[in-house]
Amino acid sequence: MEIKILKDILGANEQIAAKNRELLEKNKVFCVNIMASPGAGKTSFVLQTIKALKGKFKIGVIEGDISSSIDAETVAKEGVPVVQINTGGECHLEAIQIQNALNNLPLADIDLLLIENVGNLVCPAEFNLGEHLKVLIASVPEGDDKPFKYPLMFTTVDALVLNKTDLLPYVKFNVDNFVKTIKNINARAEIFKVSCTTGDGVSEWAKWLKSRIK
Ligand code: MG
Ligand code: ZN
Repeated sequence: MEIKILKDILGANEQIAAKNRELLEKNKVFCVNIMASPGAGKTSFVLQTIKALKGKFKIGVIEGDISSSIDAETVAKEGVPVVQINTGGECHLEAIQIQNALNNLPLADIDLLLIENVGNLVCPAEFNLGEHLKVLIASVPEGDDKPFKYPLMFTTVDALVLNKTDLLPYVKFNVDNFVKTIKNINARAEIFKVSCTTGDGVSEWAKWLKSRIK
């Protein structure tokens, strides 16, 4: 019984995600769903991506959080249109919330839409939003064993960004093993090593994203 309910929810979500994708394509908007655990640096990554690409693309942002508008206020300072979704307790974003957010964004004036999902490595992986790319941010302090603990998330994404590389001298984290593990479970994922604090590696990510948009 419970399994049937879950299937129905996901089925409805897929239908709305397909409609979102249609609306995005109609408006020539390329959409990226950014997922990570809380504190991995999603908002800093959004800010770095805006700084790297705002001369080339008109960028918009959807911020997903259980509560508050702290991240949306931070991002709005960059002068880009932002919509905050408060899920009111839900630990992931669903396509219907994105549909609502899309109706509140100037889509004709956006080329690149960044969605910051709710901080969680489990269910965001199960809910398509209509995005073109799924990106996971893993961070050095979380440890290099996360791909084993959250396999669905790590196998679902198109790109994996290892953030906080500036902390590598202080934390036990084997980058080679981490990269090898990702390649074993998700061969198509592009892997980037960045520090949103120093800006290291951001240009490689921005260059790749730019190539995907074209
Ligand atoms: Mg955030
Ligand atoms: Zn959830």
